Amino acid sequence: MMKSKRKKVLLIEPNYTNKYPPIGLMKLSTYYKNLGGWDVTFYKGDLKTFVIERIVDRCIEDFEKTDKSIDWWLKRDEFVEYIKTRKKETVEKIAIDRSNMELILLAKLTEWKDFYWKGIWKKEPEWDRVGVTTLFTFYWDITVETINFAKLLVKKKKDLMVGGVLASIQPKELETATGIKPWVGILGAPGILDKGDTQIIDNLPLDYSILDEIEYKYPMANAFYGYMTRGCIRHCAFCAVPTLESKYISYIPMRERVEKVREVYGDQKDLLLMDNNVLASENLKDIIDDIVASGFGRGAKFIQPNMLAISIRNLKNGINDRAYIRKSQGLIQEFYQKLKPLKGDESYEVYKIMSRYHINKLSTTKKEA
Ligand code: SF4
Repeated sequence: MMKSKRKKVLLIEPNYTNKYPPIGLMKLSTYYKNLGGWDVTFYKGDLKTFVIERIVDRCIEDFEKTDKSIDWWLKRDEFVEYIKTRKKETVEKIAIDRSNMELILLAKLTEWKDFYWKGIWKKEPEWDRVGVTTLFTFYWDITVETINFAKLLVKKKKDLMVGGVLASIQPKELETATGIKPWVGILGAPGILDKGDTQIIDNLPLDYSILDEIEYKYPMANAFYGYMTRGCIRHCAFCAVPTLESKYISYIPMRERVEKVREVYGDQKDLLLMDNNVLASENLKDIIDDIVASGFGRGAKFIQPNMLAISIRNLKNGINDRAYIRKSQGLIQEFYQKLKPLKGDESYEVYKIMSRYHINKLSTTKKEA
């Protein structure tokens, strides 16, 4: 039987500075993972670097097919540098002359360099769907720039999804600037993205793992996020809430979502509810009971979980390799940095182990290691 090909979705937050993680994208990630058959990638950062890194990974896979006897991944940084700069001296750093297939590999390297510099990647986009979130209107320029760049990444323009706060407040202006019609408001009904699907995206638990796929650290990352109501009963003329969340929902249960997050991603220190008008809810008592039952009653204590153990377990369970390779490597590196000034011999032992498994750099860290 033919294996059906997996599809790829890329979720992007424009590279602005912000405090809170992109909750909408975290729900979308859960949505696609629940659908099955989709590989989800999250990115926030320089999009050109992202494109180059993707090309480098394909280039190294190509090298592996030609000469397996050398671990080309250990030179990933040098590959990136070459594709980025086209400088001849960076080719020497890759040390292709170690291989008996040197000439073939050099030709391949040139092909992949051209793939980027001649813009061939724009004609052969990688992603079946791309979702871009938007936030404050004062981030207009970078938001429009990101959406326009995202058009180059998606196979069909109709599969570029734009949503979020700015998109809901200025949909017409955004459409004029980008040619993409954004989604206005929340994804609060089933079947919006895929006809016939029964999931309500807005009610799904958040996929916290995606936050570890990127370098950016959100200042308010160690928290459960959520809404226990949506919208507002009033319609003040100056306020965006009636546009963003047009219907008042007086109670959205939380405990199950919190427990799911705790189980898979570890406990979080805070609970951040972003409701607009919780006091208008006729279910206020249920809401308070739910908060207490979720572990945030009076006198509640937070015990920092062992994040390395959780990351390794999630790696073993294949939850999000891109995220948990980064997370585990970062935690081990952090441990080593703390040990270094204190205990000479022990830190040297740790250093030796890290070197042996090539986990002293993220770019050379592999899941098995
Ligand atoms: S959230 Fe506040 S400002 Fe906005 S409509 Fe409700 S009461 Fe008015």
